[in-house]
Amino acid sequence: MKIAIIGTGYVGLVSGACFAEIGAEVTCVDIDREKIARLRQGVIPIYEPGLEELVTGNVRSGRLRFSTDLTECLDEADIVFSAVGTPPGADGSADLQYVEAVARQFGRGIRKYTVLAIKSTVPVGTCRRMKAVIAEELARRGVEVPFDVVSNPEFLKEGAAIRDFMSPDRVIVGVESEAARALIEKLYKPFLLNGYRIYFMDLASAEMTKYASNAMLATRISFMNDIANLCERVGADVDLVRKGMGTDARIGSKFLYPGCGYGGSCFPKDVRALAQTGRQYGYTMRVIEAVEEINNAQKRRIIEKLEEKSGRLDGKTIALWGLSFKPETDDMREAPSLVVVAALLEAGARVKAFDPVATNEARRYWDPARGDAIEYAPDMYRAAEGADALVLLTEWKQFRLPDWEQIRASMRGDVLIDGRNIYDPAEMRELGFDYSGIGK
Ligand code: NAD
Repeated sequence: MKIAIIGTGYVGLVSGACFAEIGAEVTCVDIDREKIARLRQGVIPIYEPGLEELVTGNVRSGRLRFSTDLTECLDEADIVFSAVGTPPGADGSADLQYVEAVARQFGRGIRKYTVLAIKSTVPVGTCRRMKAVIAEELARRGVEVPFDVVSNPEFLKEGAAIRDFMSPDRVIVGVESEAARALIEKLYKPFLLNGYRIYFMDLASAEMTKYASNAMLATRISFMNDIANLCERVGADVDLVRKGMGTDARIGSKFLYPGCGYGGSCFPKDVRALAQTGRQYGYTMRVIEAVEEINNAQKRRIIEKLEEKSGRLDGKTIALWGLSFKPETDDMREAPSLVVVAALLEAGARVKAFDPVATNEARRYWDPARGDAIEYAPDMYRAAEGADALVLLTEWKQFRLPDWEQIRASMRGDVLIDGRNIYDPAEMRELGFDYSGIGK
């Protein structure tokens, strides 16, 4: 089967490499010429465990190639995937200009039956709209070429993207024709040999499934942050509460971790876009709006805690461990660190930060060379040296068992803010830290 994937970002590159791995012939297309040139030289633009090996292996086998020109793939491709971004517009709704550009190019170029599968996260109604866009382009050409638009939302998690793609919990497909259904089923079957979990549905339901899933996960996080903040006030320990709740089979233990707020390229924008869809249809998504409000406030909790412990932050040196929005990725989109660093710099503090992989990404936001009061330390120990307070923002594995005595001795102050609740408060206090977690 021949596939073209438009947009070679986190989703496009992982999907392309995984489809090639099961034997499909894949072309990953991007308008970013530099990205494609680097990929052709074997340089992987993002950090994702296992991706480099998967990409280079499939390039070597000839099943994966890169291009900046969709038109040249259209003669051959059976399925064209849109994996371009859908960033938030000014009002929170998803900006569909990139998806529309893909649909237009598709309509301008197809010569035989081809399926356009929308993997980008798009609001309900987008697939239908893209059908109209393609029909418009075909009419402009004065030709009739059969095509289908399919909704195929992606559920991979950055940091575990390859595993998620190769063994998905399920594949969701919104489809309107038997031909498209058969093609998509053929493509995904190899991923589902150990349990057939492909759900076919109408376009709107597939589009909504993606938003409802992300909104549910974000809701669990904001719910637990709300509970954690109350735990602090009433003297309960949210970790015990979480375990007590999570063992109820109806609730389950996943996504019940309070912290410094969710971030990343999906939850914040998808929650906002879902609320905006509600508004467009005259319906207020009250839970979803509260989820976002709680999350925004939670990112500020770290600063509040620092101020409670250290007083004025002006002139203080604050060490930060972790900048990416979660471990095993260099993605910093909407990361809590963005809010925390901005607030610290605004307050006149000096920041010493260490992240195992996201430093290059972080330099795009703040760079000492541009005069920002931030220093990127080469390791976690150097970050803590001379700091008045140490804040854990991202729970990378290497932060779990550091040499605390060395750290405590090298710090100027004793404040430790555990934004992910990975340390034992009693142990930290014994080591001489003024410890504060979330909801404890
Ligand atoms: P990304 O920003 O990493 O990549 C998008 C790529 O598309 C960029 O490289 C950009 O240059 C390219 N592009 C834009 N317009 C183009 C065009 N007309 N032709 C060719 N290339 C074009 O985005 P991402 O994180 O991979 O997300 C893509 C979509 O998948 C979004 O809708 C997102 O919500 C959704 N999604 C993301 C994740 C995730 O974990 N990142 C998970 C599930 C779903």
